[in-house]
Amino acid sequence: MTNRLPSIYDDETVYSWFCRYLISSGIWREHEIAKELFVNSTNVISKLFIGNINKDTENNIEKVISIENLLKHHTMFYVYTGYCSNDYANEFLYNLKTDCYKTELNIRRPRSENRQLKYCPMCIIEDRKKYGEAYWHNIHQIRMLPICPIHKCKLHNSEIRYIGYGRVREKLSPLEMMNLNSDVEYNTNEMLDKIVEYAIDRYYKQDIKDIGIDYLSIRKENWGLRSNIISFYKKHGINFCGREIDSMVYDNRKNFYTMSAIYYYLKICH
Ligand SMILES: [Zn+2]
Repeated sequence: MTNRLPSIYDDETVYSWFCRYLISSGIWREHEIAKELFVNSTNVISKLFIGNINKDTENNIEKVISIENLLKHHTMFYVYTGYCSNDYANEFLYNLKTDCYKTELNIRRPRSENRQLKYCPMCIIEDRKKYGEAYWHNIHQIRMLPICPIHKCKLHNSEIRYIGYGRVREKLSPLEMMNLNSDVEYNTNEMLDKIVEYAIDRYYKQDIKDIGIDYLSIRKENWGLRSNIISFYKKHGINFCGREIDSMVYDNRKNFYTMSAIYYYLKICH
């Protein structure tokens, strides 16, 4: 690693942090990026996690933040484990530390998933005031999260996809280099605010594992749960599809946002 890493901003994604570093160091080409940061040249820069960083990068990161804290607070680690068992979370953390690239490739994602990085137009204004520049926030990238938890306005999709192999230019896309939509559309649905508040509260208390998996599994046979959740939220103007709820209750694949909506429902209705 040529230079010292800058400090990482509050809730900044590792991708955003690496982009700022690489660009300020004048490192643009794909093979230069790989050589600078990763174990081998086939490792692409990750938008949601860290990638297979080499020992030199790891040592430099540790001067700023521990790898464990980086994974927990600046990547999608908790979003993929927040409603899973401790064993699963520990194994996932271990796999990310051992082979981050392969672990990320192995994550099953639904086809319908929104695959673009998101941003909040109000956070951009505030970040520029506070830090002199805007950056990609980690919590904005929570799958299906529709509004900024701080400003309660609609998150915009960027043109940056987080899956697949983009052009080199796309591999290094700090938020400040995007065509940004500055329209601010505030959410008016109170229930949506409540789900997002619940989800973010869980996110920030991530070391507390009060998952209560049994609570949901007790209801495995409770076919009414699915329709109760759907009709409850429908009454409040929020649509969840039945298959999405089913997959949360009966499968291992947990979508953090949908799980938060289910738990919020259980909290207030049971
Ligand atoms: Zn915001």
